[in-house]
Amino acid sequence: MKDRPWLTRPFMAAALALTILFVVLLAAVIRLAVNESRLAGEPAEGVIWFSSQGQYEAMRLADTVLMFEADRVSRDEVALRFDLLDSRIRLFEEGSMTERVTSMGYQDEIAVVRSLVERQRQPLATLQANDTAAVSSLHYDAQTISHIMRDFANAGMLDGRERQEIVRNNRRQILLEILGYLLATLAAGVVVAIIVVRGYRSIAQAEAALAHEKEVSRLHRAFTSVVSHQFRTPLSIIDASSQRMLRRGAAMSVDEMTTRVTKIRNACQRLTRLMESTLNAARLEQGEITFHSRPCDLHVLIASICDNQPEDDQSRIRRSLERLPRWAMADVTLLEHALQNLVSNALKYSPADAPVTIRGWLRGSDLVISVEDLGVGIPADEIDFISERFFRARTAEGIPGTGIGLNFVSQIVKLHSGRLDVESEQGKGSTFTLIFPYKPAQRLAAAAQPAD
Ligand code: ADP
Repeated sequence: MKDRPWLTRPFMAAALALTILFVVLLAAVIRLAVNESRLAGEPAEGVIWFSSQGQYEAMRLADTVLMFEADRVSRDEVALRFDLLDSRIRLFEEGSMTERVTSMGYQDEIAVVRSLVERQRQPLATLQANDTAAVSSLHYDAQTISHIMRDFANAGMLDGRERQEIVRNNRRQILLEILGYLLATLAAGVVVAIIVVRGYRSIAQAEAALAHEKEVSRLHRAFTSVVSHQFRTPLSIIDASSQRMLRRGAAMSVDEMTTRVTKIRNACQRLTRLMESTLNAARLEQGEITFHSRPCDLHVLIASICDNQPEDDQSRIRRSLERLPRWAMADVTLLEHALQNLVSNALKYSPADAPVTIRGWLRGSDLVISVEDLGVGIPADEIDFISERFFRARTAEGIPGTGIGLNFVSQIVKLHSGRLDVESEQGKGSTFTLIFPYKPAQRLAAAAQPAD
């Protein structure tokens, strides 16, 4: 069944219909052939020919009898004509003509012809030219036979025409039927083909969906193990620093304490970020992220994102925002999340001393904000998957992460009716660009003023 997904009830019905139509079509073609052969073997022509021959011989006999009476020919000549007529009539009787003429309603006439011939056979042997009665009788009978034969020929002609008409009508009828059956066969064939193609297409779709499901669940498993591992690292830092502080107690110098507490704080921040991205993933999944557009000071937003980065990294960030409008309508919280993600990724996936540049400008009616780094980059064959949830590129190996952030960024930019562009070269760096329609806004204070 799996190999033949089209083997369904509708398919069986259509295939059965196709088979029946094919048989009916074949039967119609055979009927047509039979009908045509009836025309080819038309015996009416035989009737006409044999009757004409008979009529001709009968007329010749009648003429010869008259010439015999006038002493212009011998009795042998009359006998010869008589025999010729007899043989013609015999031929007529032996072939299928008698049957045919009988079917035309002339069975009595055939018997009459035979009896006329037989009646004259005896007298002919001793026929004398001066025996007027016998000569007249022979002449009369020959003429009668000639008339009967002419009637046969005429009837054969009419009958032939009638039959031809019937054959022609039959042909038209059968051809129409064949055309109908052909169309129906074609329609059934199309239905069968559609069912088969659909069957294969649906199985291909199901297989693709299954493969996708498998991939998502594989990535999910990888995500779970990465997250649990990444929770463990800051927790063990916190644990180790606390233990050390406990053990050292009052003997601990202020500098040492500051170092330990800073370590604990950094680990806590890392945990918070991890929690946030995990929660965002869950919220996204449950459709809990909603979009609220309001006036947003883009310059302030970007400055605060830079300030939120680890102190060591802040000096690496360059800003080129001269062409970026200050105010625009956007969901401030979501946009901050998105940019925060792009900036921290740029810092994370590039060397500790490499610069990261944030640029902003207007392109046509779009607002464009890009984050560029000179880091590990993304392999060309993985760029298309980079926004998929839990997906991590090969170049991210050994660098902490969950594979959730970019998916969240792309959802956010979609909520802003925009898109996320990625340009990257492995080993050289990446540029992530947010592009969304620019909706100008008044400064927040003015916008927030209540309407009169
Ligand atoms: P992660 O928590 O793993 O950083 P993201 O969803 O933010 O997850 O990013 C997904 C993947 O995209 C990363 O694992 C990494 O492979 C790749 N990536 C994201 N940003 C960069 C960047 N600036 N440079 C190189 N690779 C990046």
